Formats: sequence, C-alpha cells, structure tokens
Amino acid sequence: MLPPVLIVEDDTKLARIVKVYLEGADFRTVQASTIKEALQKAEEDLPLAVILDLGLPDGSGEELCQSLKEMGDFPVIMLTAKSSEEERLAGFALGADDYMVKPASPRELVCRLKAVLKRYERSSSSADNFASFNDGSLILNSLRHQISRDGQPLSVTPTEFKLLLTMATSPGRTFTRDELVTRALGYHFEGYDRSIDAHIKNLRQKIEKDPRAPEYLKTVYGVGYLFAGERDAL
Ligand code: CA
Repeated sequence: MLPPVLIVEDDTKLARIVKVYLEGADFRTVQASTIKEALQKAEEDLPLAVILDLGLPDGSGEELCQSLKEMGDFPVIMLTAKSSEEERLAGFALGADDYMVKPASPRELVCRLKAVLKRYERSSSSADNFASFNDGSLILNSLRHQISRDGQPLSVTPTEFKLLLTMATSPGRTFTRDELVTRALGYHFEGYDRSIDAHIKNLRQKIEKDPRAPEYLKTVYGVGYLFAGERDAL
C-alpha cells in the first residue's frame, strides 16, 4: 500500500475537497484537524507528503512543519490564508517545499504535489541512500524513510523503519532486544524490551512473503533478532 498524503486542515469542507481531488489523482489520504492529531497520524503511518494548513486550533502549522520534518524526509505543501511575502518566506525557511495561498485551486494543488514528489524522487535517487536486498525484492530508502517490497512502497511507522534500518545495516548480526530498544526507539526504558516483539511482528506482516516463515527478520531464540537479507552487489 502506498504511503498516504496527510491532509492537516481544520476546515472540514476544505479538507473534504482536498481529499476528493487527491483521491481522484490516485493518492491515498489521511486527515487531521489539529497539530496533536497530525503528529499522531504521521507517527502511525509515515506520510508520502503533507498538505498543511497554517491556522490550526491548537497552534501554528509552522511549528508542526518543523516537528514533521524531524520524523522523515517528505515534502510539505503549506496551504494558508497568510499571503504576505514575509510570511511566505518564513514558511520556506521552516522547510515547506511549496506554498499556496487560499483560496487555492484544488487542481493546482494536485499538480504542485506531483511536482514536489518528482523533485524528491530525483534528489533521493543517489545510491548512498539506497540499500537493496535479495535481488531487489526489498529496498530501503533511508533518505525518504521508505521501504519497498517487490517494487511496491510499503506503509511503515517511523519506529518500524528505524528498526529495520538498524538491523539491515548489519545483515547476519544478532541484535538483543535491549540493543534494538536503544537504537530504534532511541531511549532505554525498563520493561520496553518486549515492545520490540510487537514492532517485529508488524514489520514481518509488511515485508515477509510468509510472516510465519520469515526470510528477512529471523528470531534468534533466547537472544533477539537478526536480519537475514543479502545485500545486492552491483
Ligand atoms: Ca485553518
């Protein structure tokens, strides 16, 4: 399943129009009407791109833009009533990839979204950011935080991505749950070891042909997990 475009807009009528147009252009969409909800949705399902309204009930979209940019590298298009040049420039300084002033044409929004996605595709195609395993059947793009299985982009959470990247960087090495908690979750917390099992289970559902007989994420009984994919040579 393709990662979704996250629409952050508190005006329900506008949000619905954006959703209809994006889905008409074959994008999958997820909606949020507050900063809190947007962060939660992005954490659950890392977006392909974000359409961001700047005036939100629980704060400014500018702050949200910064937080989102820390989660992954995806384009953000700001949609706003603010139209002064200064405000537009401030938006770009915060990492917005494009900026549209309301009232905006939904068809133009779709065109701009496609254009920024193309730019991202181009800038992230450098070999350093790619790791390909088992004859190209599993691809990790560390710049865009994306995983593809047999050419299909998968929808993963930021934690799942970090977990897989950590393990795939050292194929064949056994990681203890403790190590995975520290590296993939970025903190150590007593009793959190077992939460790794849930993330591994979800990842297996997404990347393995048969999650019960995993080809990539193998259990090392009594110790932890290892990544058994073979990195493709050129
Ligand atoms: Ca608004």
